[in-house]
Amino acid sequence: MLKNDQLDQWDRDNFFHPSTHLAQHARGESPSRVIKTASGVHIEDRDGNKLLDAFAGLYCVNVGYGRKEIADAIAAQAQELAYYHSYVGHGTEASITLSKMILDRAPANMSKVYFGLGGSDANETNIKLVWYYNNILGRPEKKKIISRWRGYHGSGLVTGSLTGLELFHKKFDLPIDQVKHTLAPDFFRRDDLSQTEEQFTAACVADLEELIAREGADTIAGFIGEPVLGTGGIVPPPKGYWPAIQAVLKKHDILLIVDEVVTGFGRLGTMFGSDKYGLEADIITIAKGLTSAYAPLSGSIISDRMWKVLEQGTDENGPIGHGWTYSAHPIGAAAGVANLKLIDELDLVSNAGTVGAYLNSSMKEALADHPHVGDVRGEGLLCAVEFVKDKDSRTFFDPADKIGPQVSATLLAQDKVIARAMPQADMLGFAPPFCLTRDEVDTIVAATARAVKTVLGS
Ligand code: PMP
Repeated sequence: MLKNDQLDQWDRDNFFHPSTHLAQHARGESPSRVIKTASGVHIEDRDGNKLLDAFAGLYCVNVGYGRKEIADAIAAQAQELAYYHSYVGHGTEASITLSKMILDRAPANMSKVYFGLGGSDANETNIKLVWYYNNILGRPEKKKIISRWRGYHGSGLVTGSLTGLELFHKKFDLPIDQVKHTLAPDFFRRDDLSQTEEQFTAACVADLEELIAREGADTIAGFIGEPVLGTGGIVPPPKGYWPAIQAVLKKHDILLIVDEVVTGFGRLGTMFGSDKYGLEADIITIAKGLTSAYAPLSGSIISDRMWKVLEQGTDENGPIGHGWTYSAHPIGAAAGVANLKLIDELDLVSNAGTVGAYLNSSMKEALADHPHVGDVRGEGLLCAVEFVKDKDSRTFFDPADKIGPQVSATLLAQDKVIARAMPQADMLGFAPPFCLTRDEVDTIVAATARAVKTVLGS
């Protein structure tokens, strides 16, 4: 086994880490965190420290760590057939079975699943399909995509553009021209504090209408959104938001892409966020929870209405010119089948709903009255705490103070609990595995209250 010093040196010298401060890491100023094993909701590092992972990796290890059923399914698939492609009608029992299992669980009116590797490439596929669809319909001008500020949809050229976070645009020459952003549906951060929740929803809808009018409805092909904003701060929609937004999209014949990479397969206590909010998607993006991250796999679930047009296109033009070597990779598909079975057998979607409600109510009870906690919010097993400098005037801390990262680091140091400082500086996010117990909720909440007290006082 390698000595820690050796591994750290190799890490700094060779490994280009994503979403990491490159210079600080190369200088050894940020620690190499080497994770060795994991079980249930706990991960263990190379020094034997056991940490409670209240963010399920990157909100993806939904069934929890160390599930033998999934590991066995992966091993069996690797031995029988590690790889074959899915071009020109090829498939495996695992990929065909998984597509049926996904459609059985998806909202009505969905027709087919296109498989990818991760959420970014799935959204990349989605935008290409929306363009293809409009080209087939003879509407070559209808191509722009609307996303929301603070939405997260990936890190590629198109998907990084859809992502409405400055960090993902800055110095990358993004967003591209075809992507336009509308208001983030974050009631707590509304500009006009006199607005009621209903008035704020109306303002979000008005912003979308204005954007469509400015650009011209005949140039706008699609709208993409997460049912609950995720990486942008874990923000459930304000009252009436989704029905009102959908009405606008229908009026202007704009396709709706619902990005369920975080919410798909149970995180909100319903199989899909679309079920919870009555969303009628033209495409649903899935990834993370599809395999609980035991192997990389994503998907685009396509509606009947889009499928019929895509089929017409290939009758005229030959095979669709879009495919990845690893589309529907058999090992990912085998992991997906085992994962979805496990979710059913252990009734994990309903556990996510009940334990999630307990997490959200306990966190509110413990922290809502703290003078520097402006908002505690969430839905299902998603929860966020937002810090403010002054509560009455809703003044935020200077981002340079890095209150969110400080609380997150303190929580880890004091009580070995992992929560995520969201890219919006002063928000702490929780998204634990679905097998979380009430006792573990109590541990997370008590530790968070302690960390908040250490960093911000009383
Ligand atoms: N969509 C959403 C809603 C996500 O949260 C993420 C990842 N956090 C993605 C897309 C991109 O997925 P990936 O990192 O697997 O490319």
